[in-house]
Amino acid sequence: MFFKNILVPYDESDHARSALHVALGMAGAYPEAKVHVVTVIPAGALPTPSLIGDDALNPSYALGDPYTYDKIVESMLHRARTNAEGAIKGAKDDAVCQVVADAVVASSPVEGIAEYVEQHGIDLVVMGRRGLGALRGMLGSVSFGVLRSVSVPVLTVK
Ligand code: ATP
Ligand code: MG
Repeated sequence: MFFKNILVPYDESDHARSALHVALGMAGAYPEAKVHVVTVIPAGALPTPSLIGDDALNPSYALGDPYTYDKIVESMLHRARTNAEGAIKGAKDDAVCQVVADAVVASSPVEGIAEYVEQHGIDLVVMGRRGLGALRGMLGSVSFGVLRSVSVPVLTVK
């Protein structure tokens, strides 16, 4: 097995699901291989506690409490992990490789994917050519950004 740590960036799109199938096809026969199915939550998608806490009439006022804020972030990460686990269940078949679902917060999906590659010794990225965004050409902005920012091989899947 040439690739031991394969990252499948997962945005819940059909393209990303196809990428997961390809990654499992490549690694499935190797128990020592690991496929990481990872969703990046961009920091901009999180609620902004300072703004929410300023408005006493806003029913979300309690978000100003950092403890509540952490709980919301944790539940978003948990939801993303659960969705990735669902995709894994649907795709794993008889693959014997290790498969893990993960979710991280980062400044952008591209940043999060690049950081994950560095931190987890990823040696191949298998990702969708497009994602959940509107179709405008061949390659989505996240695929394009990842191709530019990581030094490991990247395989894009339609
Ligand atoms: P755009 O987002 O530029 O409108 P798009 O959604 O069609 O375009 P991309 O976002 O580039 O295309 O998605 C391509 C692939 O990138 C997806 O199939 C998935 O593998 C990965 N990806 C995109 N967003 C994320 C994310 N937030 N977390 C993890 N992987 C992602
Ligand atoms: Mg997208």
